[in-house]
Amino acid sequence: RDALRGFLDTRWPEPGPREGRSRLIVLAGPTAVGKGTVAAHIKQNYPQIHLSVSATTRSPRPGEVDGQHYYFVDDAEFDRLVAAGELLEWAVVHNQNRYGTPREPIERVLAAGGTALLEIDLQGARQVRAADPSATLVFLLPPSWDELVQRLVGRGTEDAEERARRLRTARVELAAQNEFDYRVVNEDVASAAADVVALAAAQR
Ligand code: 5GP
Repeated sequence: RDALRGFLDTRWPEPGPREGRSRLIVLAGPTAVGKGTVAAHIKQNYPQIHLSVSATTRSPRPGEVDGQHYYFVDDAEFDRLVAAGELLEWAVVHNQNRYGTPREPIERVLAAGGTALLEIDLQGARQVRAADPSATLVFLLPPSWDELVQRLVGRGTEDAEERARRLRTARVELAAQNEFDYRVVNEDVASAAADVVALAAAQR
């Protein structure tokens, strides 16, 4: 908990456009903060925003549809995507599976003047910033650390060992929030989504 004192002491940045940022929006944040839910809400309610579909070597969970939630690929296919330079960024997440953002759809959307949203992990966010310094980085925060733990337990999709692993990752991730252009607190999904959309609209 001591490691999170910085999180609790956070001073929020002023709202408004950052100089020279683009409509390539990266939404990152600690595990179980609700990035996926916020991204899904944006996809549902703001069709003008293109939500990137990642490739992953993870197996589908019940209800997940190939090409919709992820492109589920095997290791050989992921290797090929990396070698061919077809991923804008990729990372091993939670020391387990590989996840990456297909480059071409993003470039197409941005070239047409649209807004592209990436819901990815911190390593990926840093790679996007390195590849395109004009990308707009948004960090989603939980209302509190306890709330984050509650959400991870309540989700019930991970066993105890995996939860512990993800909470360790979350601590590290929370410490990186100052690298981001904006921070949004996920008190409730609809207003967090609206905040992200408003930030996107404020960029050139
Ligand atoms: P899950 O397995 O629960 O769907 O996702 C696990 C983590 O992978 C989430 O933190 C999510 O943000 C991250 N993730 C999903 N797609 C990508 C991607 O394309 N690149 C990176 N770097 N992380 C991703």
